[in-house]
Amino acid sequence: MPPELIDSHCHFDFEAFDEDREDIWSRCRSAGVRQLLIPGTEPEQWARAQGLCEAMPDWYFAAGIHPWWQYKVRGKEWLDACRRALSHSHCLAVGECGLDKFIDTPMAEQEALLEQHLQLAYEQRLPIVLHCVKAHNELIRWLKRYPLERGGVIHAFSGSVDIAETYWQMGFRLGVGGTITYERAKKTREAVSRIPAEALLLETDAPDMPLCGRQGERNSPEYLPDVARGLAELRGVTIEEIAAITTANAQLLFGFQH
Ligand SMILES: [Zn+2]
Repeated sequence: MPPELIDSHCHFDFEAFDEDREDIWSRCRSAGVRQLLIPGTEPEQWARAQGLCEAMPDWYFAAGIHPWWQYKVRGKEWLDACRRALSHSHCLAVGECGLDKFIDTPMAEQEALLEQHLQLAYEQRLPIVLHCVKAHNELIRWLKRYPLERGGVIHAFSGSVDIAETYWQMGFRLGVGGTITYERAKKTREAVSRIPAEALLLETDAPDMPLCGRQGERNSPEYLPDVARGLAELRGVTIEEIAAITTANAQLLFGFQH
């Protein structure tokens, strides 16, 4: 029996999986992937994620606005619909939301939307799923202003040991994905091998973030064991140990049902 794993960040609702979602899920189960979290991207998508999670008891979702879809919302109109989505029994977190320096949306607008998400996570006492591209300093500043009881995760973490430590000390975990399978990702590989294992979650971010050797292909949650194996090698432990601790971490953070 393969060890049990949780994919803490998988866009399994995306069109890329419409043709063969159920086949993939059955391969996931044989590979030990037992549960997954579908992050929120924008208001229309929350209902789609919710529908999928109602049909599949092992899938959960989060509700929030990804910076790439920020153009779809104005002001604070989205908040009430988001509160409704968050009240669903399969909705475990606020997000994904965050800051991304590679897109055209001005930082001030991104930060205003992030602040609304932080207030929401605080008010709803939920963990938050954060997307951060080249904006760790700004994000850390915001997280210090809004300490969250349940913390959250910096998904697809990429950065130094120092930055990883800073997040962990503030109560945020780090999502480890396909990046660590690339040798050139030296800084991130070092960070995830030195930070306490209690800080780490596994994720694929599928259909994005293909693993080394699968560049240009659709990424899939069925490859999560390869991420676990990569992390185990970097830390010099067994895949069983990585599976046990990261699964426990995901359950602790999000409250996945056993
Ligand atoms: Zn994502």
